[in-house]
Amino acid sequence: MTPLLDALGRPLGSLRLSVTDRCNMRCGYCMPEAEYTWLPRASLLTFEELARLAGVFAGLGAARVRLTGGEPLLRHDLPTLVSLLAGDARIRDLALTTNGVLLARHARALRDAGLRRVTVSLDTLRPERSLAFARNPRHAEVLRGIDEAAAAGFTGLKLNAVVIRGFNDDEIVPLLDYARALGAEMRYIEYMDVGGATQWSAGAVVPRREILEVIARRHGAVTPLAEPGSRAPAERFQLADGSCFGIIASVTAPFCRTCDRSRVTADGTWFRCLYGEDGIDLREPLRQGASDEELSARIRSVWSGRDDRGAEVRATLGARAVLYPVEGLRADPRREMHTRGG
Ligand code: SF4
Repeated sequence: MTPLLDALGRPLGSLRLSVTDRCNMRCGYCMPEAEYTWLPRASLLTFEELARLAGVFAGLGAARVRLTGGEPLLRHDLPTLVSLLAGDARIRDLALTTNGVLLARHARALRDAGLRRVTVSLDTLRPERSLAFARNPRHAEVLRGIDEAAAAGFTGLKLNAVVIRGFNDDEIVPLLDYARALGAEMRYIEYMDVGGATQWSAGAVVPRREILEVIARRHGAVTPLAEPGSRAPAERFQLADGSCFGIIASVTAPFCRTCDRSRVTADGTWFRCLYGEDGIDLREPLRQGASDEELSARIRSVWSGRDDRGAEVRATLGARAVLYPVEGLRADPRREMHTRGG
């Protein structure tokens, strides 16, 4: 299949599919506010609609699908959607990003339904910090969920941590060692000024360079892994013992030039960039009876004109402030990262 390229020559390669905007945690880099405007339940796509849309995208080349939220495991009976997607031969890779709170309960059913890969957000190993920072009293269940995912047969487990100065920058090495002991791969994410990060400041960002220095001080030489052709957001590194970790440096080393990702919110709005202002409503045509060909034609024409480079553009700004104030987020909840699925 000839790849569908955008205006910068980037293929439509992967789809992040949000199945809910709700979450059972309140991480300070995503949902620090007391109140939120939620997507109306009636506007949420059904499993059949989500699976159909994902199939149309996969037919155009987005054969890697990642299920996201909010917290996707809050969506009731998610294994049913997983088996619909796993049954579509056009979808070559099916992954999930979760905060892990409900993972222990669902890991086996998700595996049996055909889920391939799991990424768990784990920003701290300290329950008291998880409670203070993310209002999450169930940290132990997150760790149990990670163990259950491994026991259920998920290999290539990844653990994501958003590193924030003054919150968990003293856990860079402990998190790495925890992941290595599990045989999982640690991913550090620079704190991004995306929609919803209303507490963001440049001073709170721990840059890629510093994360590497901290790890090298403890574990010695860190070798960058050359992965030509990879469009994954993480840059990967290897330690002397062969174990690997990754850094997603969207703030200090944005990678928009290779970005093949786009996102569909749980109510069917398609965003070509995490920072993109306007989305394309795919729910309306879907519910108005549009054929797969008509949906494909719409996606094709929009993607061909895509020239988004949100993180790169933000990086050129002198004084960088939060992307949207609270009022701006209340005005359109699709601006929120927890609605776009990160
Ligand atoms: S900012 Fe936009 S274009 Fe850049 S990597 Fe993220 S989603 Fe892709």
